Amino acid sequence: MREALITLAAGKAYQPLRTIIRPPDAKGVMGLMPSYVSGESAAFGLKAICVFAGNPAKGKDSHQGGVLLFSAETGELLAMVNASAITAIRTAAVSGVATDLLARADASNLAILGAGVQARTHLVAMSDVRSIKRCRIASRRFENAQKLAAEMGRGFSFPLEPVETVEAALEGADLIITATTAKDPIVKREWVSAGAHLNLVGSSVAKAREVDSETIAATSLFVDRRESTLNEAGDYLFAVKEGLIGPDHIRAELGEVLTGLKPGRTSSEEITCFKSLGIAVEDLFAAQYLYRKAKQMEVGTWVEF
Ligand code: NDP
Repeated sequence: MREALITLAAGKAYQPLRTIIRPPDAKGVMGLMPSYVSGESAAFGLKAICVFAGNPAKGKDSHQGGVLLFSAETGELLAMVNASAITAIRTAAVSGVATDLLARADASNLAILGAGVQARTHLVAMSDVRSIKRCRIASRRFENAQKLAAEMGRGFSFPLEPVETVEAALEGADLIITATTAKDPIVKREWVSAGAHLNLVGSSVAKAREVDSETIAATSLFVDRRESTLNEAGDYLFAVKEGLIGPDHIRAELGEVLTGLKPGRTSSEEITCFKSLGIAVEDLFAAQYLYRKAKQMEVGTWVEF
């Protein structure tokens, strides 16, 4: 994911904004995320993903679909990869890159809001990039926070503590993940500690947000992609609409910090925030990585097409 973000910053990736189709009578929506990358690992990619909010109640991931990888030489289809798995993992991996880049080196008190697919992969990603000492989890339904803690607790050296409220989860937290399907803010500015780093993952549309405008205004804001933020990020757009921030509030894209073009965190008291929207080039790089691995390891299923 680091490579994907650097490639984007270098201007070697081409990706229009995603298209989302929302038929009025359908149970879900479909998102189309095409991209192209030039250079040594040139390829076309397309993630076609359906998002069905009712799926978790059926024990299924709400995100279903495929990532198609195409040859840049001939256009031939090279691979089709499970988009549920790619979305679950690449999103948390990008937050891992952001956290490694922007959080304080001593950040260790993790709060995870939400208890679904992204909450789970983010728990793994955060423990990969910082020495976590405790993790509190708050969700809409307390029993789902408990379930996550019970399911995943044994895999970590630190305790997973389900808590009843977002406020309780955020008390003293220096690493905060919002990975919910909430439409209205669940995080208030006064609950966020000085020096914290936030990864805002849940909202990918202009009309939903997870944190209030005061929180956004108080942070140094980093994004995966400016164009996507200006069009799709409710967390950012509501704060602009309410007059708390202007367009210069976005400090940088992650790739610009990774390549040294723009600074990251500048003080230990600063609150840094990564607004994640998820971009097509991440899916393309993930599919390419898996295609290479599958060939090396002789796994996967080869089919005539
Ligand atoms: P899931 O449906 O698996 O989980 C959603 C979680 O949000 C549930 O645990 C639910 O709680 C919780 N939740 C909903 N409303 C609230 C609330 N008001 N307060 C606290 N918790 C709440 O979804 P995913 O984990 O797959 O995805 C989470 C979000 O991330 C989605 O909005 C999705 O679109 C987005 N996403 C973003 C990506 C990116 O690249 N930035 C990529 C993929 C997904 P409970 O279980 O208690 O009901």
